[in-house]
Amino acid sequence: MCEHAVHVALLPNAGMGHLIPFLRLADLLVRHSCRVTLITTKSTVSLAESELLSRFESSFPQINRVDFDLLPFDPTTANSNDPFWLRWESVRRSAHLLIPVLSSISPPLSAFVYGMTLISPMIPVTEALCLQSYILFTSSARMFSFYSYFPSVADGATSASDVLEIPGISPVPTTSIPPLLLVPNSLFAKIFTEDGRKLRKLNGVLVNTFEELEAESIEALKLRDGLPPVFALGPFMPCEFEKLKSNDGDADSPLKWLNGQPQDSVVYVCFGSRTAMKREQIREMGDGLLKSGCRFLWVVKVKIVDSEEEEELEKVVGEELMNGLKEKGLVVKTWVDQKAILDHPSIGGFVSHCGWNSVSEAAWYGVRVLAWPQHGDQKINAEVVERSGLGMWQKDWGWGGEQMVKGEEIGKANKKIMSTESLKNSALCVKEAARKAVSVGGSCEINFERLIEEWKDKD
Ligand code: UDP
Ligand code: UDP
Repeated sequence: MCEHAVHVALLPNAGMGHLIPFLRLADLLVRHSCRVTLITTKSTVSLAESELLSRFESSFPQINRVDFDLLPFDPTTANSNDPFWLRWESVRRSAHLLIPVLSSISPPLSAFVYGMTLISPMIPVTEALCLQSYILFTSSARMFSFYSYFPSVADGATSASDVLEIPGISPVPTTSIPPLLLVPNSLFAKIFTEDGRKLRKLNGVLVNTFEELEAESIEALKLRDGLPPVFALGPFMPCEFEKLKSNDGDADSPLKWLNGQPQDSVVYVCFGSRTAMKREQIREMGDGLLKSGCRFLWVVKVKIVDSEEEEELEKVVGEELMNGLKEKGLVVKTWVDQKAILDHPSIGGFVSHCGWNSVSEAAWYGVRVLAWPQHGDQKINAEVVERSGLGMWQKDWGWGGEQMVKGEEIGKANKKIMSTESLKNSALCVKEAARKAVSVGGSCEINFERLIEEWKDKD
């Protein structure tokens, strides 16, 4: 590595949905001959995060790892019971401790890229150190349009209506607004609005997206006043270090099971790393999978944090239903290698909550999506899925938990994504565009080079 290589420090937010794209960005930086320092809290909220970090560390011994020691934190002083958000708040309150940490990193840093829930507390830190300040926005560009516009809504600048008119993009239905934003004192609303007002102080925003998937939002963001430059660096490619090693040989290893299934015949059902489904809805889902008549691979989750998943699968799903399910599919209640699953030829469809990483991976592998947004940014991401041709969205199902969606309906929708030829083809077109974006001369490469030049100039 040359002496004057760009040196970037990364500080991800808690949660796999944040850590994964940060580590993929680290991989991208290393491939472009940058030095990387990864700053993480000593303990992680979930087991999946600590296991991924250790796989990452063995694959990238050249990356400098720095521990961030947090101040003692009393969770009752923050208005939330979500363990991931409580960690975000705890990191926010400890942000000033990073001043000596960042200033002692050698060689000196060219830029600091941190998670999007840390903006307000990190700006004074980077200002004190005259350090370039960037966030990695781990959702869609459409969500960023909404996020950056939301403070004016919160200030009452827009009238109440069924849709939110945001400059340059198709209107966002008010029913797509993350529900917790409408709860004024929620920790989520507090962080979201406090940080949204400070965006102009950033040097830039990195987003895991690409032109062909989100042309409208990317263009609109270029034209909006008062925003820092937005770099569409996606699609981030799944990496080798993410691969699970231990369960390759397990009897119920999903990949092994998929090997025995015909091409394009299996629906994969997974709602990401932190979305627990209510028991009654789980049973309707099981019933729906049976009624669809399709093969399926279903990842069940009942707890937000993985280490608390103690109950046996048979008990959660119910023994009788479980016996029926075993005849046609595979049901698991463990962390799976989603990228390898989506890459498997037997997979045809993906029932997804539309966490942005899942959408980006479905695009990368060209797997058609049945969108069932559960909370947060997921309806806004589902709009991207629908508009890009990557999949369909069953809007009348509402948010997760808003109503009980019956097995009958789930079965019908599954059958539809598996049998609609036009959907299959349009998802493959998105895949082609995704591959083009990362090829030589593609948009990812161009934007990435532009960013690195910016960092070099300011060195
Ligand atoms: N994921 C996985 N195995 C699982 C569950 C999730 O590999 O059993 C990965 C998935 O591939 C994605 C990430 O975890 O990269 C989840 O991020 P996403 O933004 O889709 O949703 P979130 O978990 O943040 O709600
Ligand atoms: N979000 C944001 N700024 C914040 C907090 C959240 O833009 O300060 C957005 C972001 O898109 C995030 C989403 O809100 O992914 C919803 O958060 P969620 O509850 O899904 O948590 P996550 O699954 O991302 O950890």
